[in-house]
Amino acid sequence: MEIEELYRELDIDGSVADFCKKILSDLKERFEKIDETAEYNQLKVLKAFQSNRVSEACLYGSTGYGYNDIGRDTLEKVYAALFKGEAALVRPQITCGTHALAIALSSNLRPGDELLSPVGKPYDTLEEVIGIRDSKGSLKEYGITYRQVDLKEDNGFDLKGIKEAINERTKLVTIQRSKGYQVRPSFSVDEIGELIRYIKGIKPDIICMVDNCYGEFVERREPLEAGADMIVGSLIKNPGGGLAPIGGYIVGKKECIENAAVRLTTPGLGSEVGASLDVLRSFYQGLFLAPVVTAAALKGAIFAANAYERLGFPVLPDGREERHDIIQAVTLGSGEGLIAFCKGIQAAAPIDSFVTPEPWDMPGYDSKVIMAAGAFISGSSIELSADGPLKEPYSVYFQGGLTFPHAKYGIMKSIQSMKDAGLLDV
Ligand SMILES: *Cc1c(COP(=O)(O)O)cnc(C)c1O
Repeated sequence: MEIEELYRELDIDGSVADFCKKILSDLKERFEKIDETAEYNQLKVLKAFQSNRVSEACLYGSTGYGYNDIGRDTLEKVYAALFKGEAALVRPQITCGTHALAIALSSNLRPGDELLSPVGKPYDTLEEVIGIRDSKGSLKEYGITYRQVDLKEDNGFDLKGIKEAINERTKLVTIQRSKGYQVRPSFSVDEIGELIRYIKGIKPDIICMVDNCYGEFVERREPLEAGADMIVGSLIKNPGGGLAPIGGYIVGKKECIENAAVRLTTPGLGSEVGASLDVLRSFYQGLFLAPVVTAAALKGAIFAANAYERLGFPVLPDGREERHDIIQAVTLGSGEGLIAFCKGIQAAAPIDSFVTPEPWDMPGYDSKVIMAAGAFISGSSIELSADGPLKEPYSVYFQGGLTFPHAKYGIMKSIQSMKDAGLLDV
């Protein structure tokens, strides 16, 4: 069977397939560069495995207290070497990215200290961690204050404002690499490096933490190489490679990591307890695959940007921009458009492809939200997924794809679904 016929059997019209083929033929050079980055990062990962002598025994986990868990301890050395930190905490007991960030913050700040975000509002879920929105157990409840300096109108850093905001209590600065679900560009590692140099020039002992979610392996360098003291992320995003079923990581200066370890477990026990159960094989294998999986997701995002841009929809980043994370926003302009897009992504999934996503009242949001995900790991956003709030301007946030052919098919299916709903013409 020809591939065109197979696409037809998978309910893609010839006109949609032709349109997508044409878009892709213009992206060859771009994709080659992404493959080169993936190759570079694959070698970095291998080097970290080999120099830390990862053995077959490392793949088996521990139970109970988890003392002398060689697989867990070696994995943390691999993360430290790979991301260029002195130490790392990589654990299934870290339940998600928000938890990893909360541990990193609450363990490195003390009552009376101030936290500064020099890049505007942090990710939604951090608002309650910090106490921007009052919440039980927030940093605010423990006497840690928060200050924020917004980006300038041109999305540049407000250097003057940052200088004015730093005071004798400023202990830690949090820099979010990815735009998340905001309308601003994501930062390159170079830009983050410049910001950190500026901040350390004002007050050298400030701890600079980078929320690295969605940014891992997109570039050749990671933020610790640009002067950050600590990077934090989720294993059900890029570095888990789609295989890690849970977990988060913190990598950086030894003291920062020790602080984090005693907060995650208890004072006195720190990183020496914490059984890895049966997850280590997936952590190692996921990390091994992560550079190539991230490349697939990046190609999917760039393909989506170019296809939807050609179809007349505003996209962020645009079709040509350099990428610093794997998220793609497309403004569909109507609720019907948003729903049709998500239905297409869902119908392309390996799991639950027969399910129809519906808008629902998700806790913490002020409008209905629709989500499409047919993932092997629940909520995993390195797998092909899309979501968006049902309100103006009706933007969908699209990310992931463990393989490029799947990301491609998902986007084709979204276009087909919009076409079937009479919302676009190809
Ligand atoms: C996903 C994400 C988080 C939070 O991670 P969860 O695993 O969803 O808790 C924090 N910051 C950014 C930028 C993210 O993309």
